Amino acid sequence: MSAEKRLSFDEVTAKYPDFPRLLALKIDMHRRGVAYTDRALSAFDPSVHQGGGTHIFGTRDGKLTARPEALTLRDGTSVIATPTPIEQNPYIVDLIDDKLMITDRGEAIDETFFWDKPDYYDKRTSSGAIMQNVVSARPQRLYVVPNRYCHFWTENSGGGGCKFCDIVNNLKTQREEIEMPTRITIKDVGETIDEALKEKGRFTAIALTSGSDYRGEKPFDKEVDFYIEILQAIGERFETDRFPAQLICTAFSKEQIKRIYDNTGVTSLTYNIEVFGESIFNAVCPGKAKWVGYKEWKKRLCDAVEIFGESRVNTGIVAGVELAPPYGVKSEEEGLKLLLSEAEDLAKNGVSSVNVVWQPRPGSFFGAKHNQTIGSLEYYVRLSIGLQELRLKYGLSIDFDDYRRCGNHADSDLARVFQ
Ligand code: SF4
Repeated sequence: MSAEKRLSFDEVTAKYPDFPRLLALKIDMHRRGVAYTDRALSAFDPSVHQGGGTHIFGTRDGKLTARPEALTLRDGTSVIATPTPIEQNPYIVDLIDDKLMITDRGEAIDETFFWDKPDYYDKRTSSGAIMQNVVSARPQRLYVVPNRYCHFWTENSGGGGCKFCDIVNNLKTQREEIEMPTRITIKDVGETIDEALKEKGRFTAIALTSGSDYRGEKPFDKEVDFYIEILQAIGERFETDRFPAQLICTAFSKEQIKRIYDNTGVTSLTYNIEVFGESIFNAVCPGKAKWVGYKEWKKRLCDAVEIFGESRVNTGIVAGVELAPPYGVKSEEEGLKLLLSEAEDLAKNGVSSVNVVWQPRPGSFFGAKHNQTIGSLEYYVRLSIGLQELRLKYGLSIDFDDYRRCGNHADSDLARVFQ
């Protein structure tokens, strides 16, 4: 990357006055990460607050020790920033006058809050599994991860895991430290959902995601079959044919995704392309490139709109990876042009794009082998505005993946402000 001048937090918020300040703070916390003082951790009560460790991906400091899962800002915005080594200059969360505060270089920036732990979290299923390891929670969404292993990581996959991803290394740590099963049973999921739904009014949606599994008669048939079984088991808990469920999965063939749609109550679909730009995608996501391919991934997203409808299909990008040497573009201007033009190509066909801030993790290829510098705050602010503006231009809603459902995308958080 060229050494473009990077604006400070205050300079960015002054330059973009219509962009919510707390949302800019969220983005910056995702960029830089967070660290907790001992005083802040003394306010963390594991019987009341949601602890981390159950997420499919790991932390920036590579540790799983009991700490807050994430934070909420005063306007209800979720901040899903993971504990980050102090030498990487994270925001510091401190306890000041009995209030949990986000601080930077000793200056208090704003108040923040730990997430409330769901009532079901510490209970066990009849098989003995800890329920939070079967279904974890965003504040208002249940998050089911049926399979935490990604087969692109196996030596004979002919591809390879995505270079920013630490899923398999994180699973190894989770297995050792928190009784995390690699693959959960349908009975465990059903029992956990039953228990979670007893907390009336808390959860608005269910999301499913897993590592990719290319095995089967046709590639990915096994992954498809498992999702159908799980979604059917969850669907039995609802009185309606369809229920608010988002499937986040490999880009399946049209026939496969139709099979899922026709045999379950799923209502929205996410095929994460991860990285825009074919040559960068090929280098950074070799498993996806080999088993599906970039153009085919985009085509399958558009095909899925025919089944799910417009505003029911989206794709996620790990924004910032497109800037990473040696595969990425050379400047942020080039990066924004690439991301927004590819997103527009999809938006024309009824597909939304959402971004997460790339948070390099030590268990990933990039995190372990490169000291990457991620994009500037202004880059992410402009990208978030651009992605939400595309939704407005093409009349797309993102209500299945917004601040109340996922909470990890600044651009879809904007949907409640930019309408
Ligand atoms: S497909 Fe890529 S991002 Fe998804 S779990 Fe596998 S390696 Fe990670």
